[in-house]
Amino acid sequence: MEQKIFVTRTSMPPYEEFAEMIKPLWNTHWLTNMGKYHQELEQKLREYLQVEQLSLMVNGHMSLEMAIQAMQFPEGSEVITTPFTFVSTTHAIIRNRLKPVFCDIKPTDFTIDESKMEALITDKTVAIVPVHVYGNICNVEEIGRIAAKHGLTVIYDAAHAFGETYKGKGIGSFGDASVFSFHATKVYNTIEGGAVASASPDLYQKLYNLKNFGILNENVIADIGANAKMNEFAAIMGLCNLRYVQDNIKIRKKKVQLYNEQLADLSCVRTPEFSQPDVVYNYAYYPVVFATAEYRDIVYDRLKEENIYSRKYFYPLTSDADCFGDRYSTCALDVARDISARVLVLPLYPDMDDDVIVEIAQDIHKISGQAGM
Ligand SMILES: *Cc1c(COP(=O)(O)O)cnc(C)c1O
Repeated sequence: MEQKIFVTRTSMPPYEEFAEMIKPLWNTHWLTNMGKYHQELEQKLREYLQVEQLSLMVNGHMSLEMAIQAMQFPEGSEVITTPFTFVSTTHAIIRNRLKPVFCDIKPTDFTIDESKMEALITDKTVAIVPVHVYGNICNVEEIGRIAAKHGLTVIYDAAHAFGETYKGKGIGSFGDASVFSFHATKVYNTIEGGAVASASPDLYQKLYNLKNFGILNENVIADIGANAKMNEFAAIMGLCNLRYVQDNIKIRKKKVQLYNEQLADLSCVRTPEFSQPDVVYNYAYYPVVFATAEYRDIVYDRLKEENIYSRKYFYPLTSDADCFGDRYSTCALDVARDISARVLVLPLYPDMDDDVIVEIAQDIHKISGQAGM
C-alpha cells in the first residue's frame, strides 16, 4: 500500500457546512457552558438514540466517571466489570475509589459472561459495568434480572454501540445509565465528546451539576464536581455529523459484507457475524479472531510492513495493566485472555476504498499461506 492505512479515519462533514454553522459564535461569543448548540445537540441525540435523558460531556471517559460518581457508592465498594475493554472503563471505576472485580467474557460475542457473574457478588458489590463490545450487545435481560435480584446498579459502557437498537429500543435505554463516546475515532464524533443516557431526570440534573464543578447555583456548591462540559464547537460538529451518520453506517455494513466475502474461505480466521437476534448494528469495527495467538501476531506485523495498521484491540486485558500491579485479584479469565491474544481489528471506515479491503484480504491470504496457517 502506498499510503498508510489506519484502523479508522475520522468522518468529517463538508467544510463549508461546518464553517457556516460556527459563524454565529463570532456574534454571540458564547463558546461553552451549556450554550445553544449544547442544548440543541442534547435534544437531537435524545431523539436519535431513543433515550429519555441525555447529558453531553467533554468525552466518553468523563461520562463514565461522572455517571459512576453520580451513583454515590460507598468508597471501596466492588463493581463487577469486564477486562475485555478499553482501559477507560476500568480507570473510571478505580478513579471513583471503587474496586473492579473482573468477570470473564463469552467466546461468541466477547461481552461479559452473565452466567459467571453471580459467583462474584459479595456483600460489598454495588454495581455492574458491562461493555457492548464492537457493537455486540450484552445480555441486557439477564443482567437486568441479576441486578434486580441483588439490588445492583447497572451502568453500560456503550461507547461501541452508538445508534444501535435492541428489540426496537435504543441501546442506551437499558440499565440505570449508558455511556457513549463521540471521540474522533468512533462511528459518530463531536471531535471529542461523550454522553450519559438514562431514563432519570434526577440523574440528568445531578450530571448537569457534576460536569460544572458541582455548582448548583450562585450560592451553593453541592458536589465535588469536575469540568466535563462539551463546548459549542464540538456540539456543532456533532450536529453536522449527525446528518451523515445513518448513511455512513449503511456504507460500513457493505464494507463488512465485502470483508466477510473476501475472508470466507480462510479457515484460520473467524470473521464477525453481527447476528444477535433483534439487534440493529452500527458496524463500528471489523474484528477477526485467528486460530492461534502466533498467527494473529504474524498477520499484525506483516500487514504493518505493507503500511496497513491493524489494532490488537483489546490487548492486553485491562486487568493486566501494569499500573494496577496485582492490586485487583481476578478470577479465571480464560476466555478473555484467549480472545485477547487472538483478536485483530482490521481497518474500517466509510470512505475506505473497496479495493483496499480486497487488497488487505489478499494480503491475509498470502500471509496465512506462507505461514502455513
Ligand atoms: C472510546 C472508548 C471509551 C472512552 O471514550 P473517550 O471519548 O475516548 O474518552 C470508553 N470505553 C470504550 C469501550 C471505548 O471504546
